[in-house]
Amino acid sequence: MPFEVTILGSSSATPTQDRHPTAQVLNVCERFFLLDCGEGTQMQMSRFKVRYGKISHIFISHLHGDHYLGLMGLLSTMHLQGRNAELHLFGQQELMDIIELQLRLSRTRLRYNLIFHPIKNYSGDIIHEDDEIVVRTLVMNHRIPCVGFHFREKTGLRRINPDKIREHAIPVHQLDSIKKGADFRDGTGRIIPNRDITFDPARPRSYAYFSDTMFEEDLAAEVEGVDLLYHESTFLHSDLERAVSTFHSTAKQAAQLALKAGAQKLLIGHFSARYPDLQPLLQEAQSVFPNTELALEGSRFAVEHGIRDLTQ
Ligand SMILES: [Zn+2]
Ligand SMILES: [Zn+2]
Repeated sequence: MPFEVTILGSSSATPTQDRHPTAQVLNVCERFFLLDCGEGTQMQMSRFKVRYGKISHIFISHLHGDHYLGLMGLLSTMHLQGRNAELHLFGQQELMDIIELQLRLSRTRLRYNLIFHPIKNYSGDIIHEDDEIVVRTLVMNHRIPCVGFHFREKTGLRRINPDKIREHAIPVHQLDSIKKGADFRDGTGRIIPNRDITFDPARPRSYAYFSDTMFEEDLAAEVEGVDLLYHESTFLHSDLERAVSTFHSTAKQAAQLALKAGAQKLLIGHFSARYPDLQPLLQEAQSVFPNTELALEGSRFAVEHGIRDLTQ
């Protein structure tokens, strides 16, 4: 089952010639979640072949323009394309005030049901849950209220050992209950314990999205053992003073957080326009946490225990 993230944009406040502000699409078992929606997100979705109609949930981290100024355009396009599937939107309460004002002034009544879920600013709050995934907030340390998001698969069913099905002639209709943990009673009345005929479920996969934040070491515990961690790295550590005054992080700090969290892999992004060359940011992070990659536009990463870069 797919669990993968596609980077649509990873520039900070101002876009550059070849870098767009923040947006990512997360595919969790064919559910498509949009994380932030900076200016130009629609065009980036077209460019990287993400269909608007597939997006069912949008998560907006905070109300700095580089994280949501593409949202109104996307909502309008969905309306013009005749969308009728409901759309879930998560964000600060004021986000809905902005949207309602724009809809009212343009006398637009959306054709689809936009269901807004206001975010409370505390870590660990479960804001979305379905059969496959749980989404929790992570409170960032930023200039205005800002959250990140932690996506974690639910523990799956036990996996049947096919050799044991044959050995004990287990009928197909019993497989569902065995996957849920039931023992098997064979034709002679003998009970075969579940652990002898199944394997443990796959370990749940997880993705953490640290949108805009100062270095916040305590958050590492919230995402301990995460498979893939995206952390903003707006500045090089030589610009630490600037990072602190603007409530952002350096590449080195992102790597320190990944190390402390025991992450499998780190993606860095939200790059300041002051760095035309991103290699020094990558090298700085890799000097602390070697398994780091740049969140370049168009790159796609599978979230799994041995994480693969799908674009290579
Ligand atoms: Zn930002
Ligand atoms: Zn911000």
